[in-house]
Amino acid sequence: MSFVPIIFGKKDWDNEYDLGPKYKNFYCPNCHNYCVKPVKRREFISIWFIPIFPMYFGKQLMCPICNWRQDFKDQSQLDKVAAEQVIINKQQQ
Ligand SMILES: [Zn+2]
Repeated sequence: MSFVPIIFGKKDWDNEYDLGPKYKNFYCPNCHNYCVKPVKRREFISIWFIPIFPMYFGKQLMCPICNWRQDFKDQSQLDKVAAEQVIINKQQQ
């Protein structure tokens, strides 16, 4: 019998939320672009490229340009972020 190495890896998915235009194109504090969007994130430890152990289930705000991320818990927290965006947008005009 030959030795078969077990290959561990990590697999993750970002599923985009579609919550309407109010929750799109948030300001990114890292790269200063308006492209942060809410995503549902899932991370698994995989063996032989098959996802086995869940590591993380959650909702995040994600910037596709610089990969900045921040967790958020629920809709009210997202609404708070959306309200802050309105203030940021007003300051920049
Ligand atoms: Zn960014």
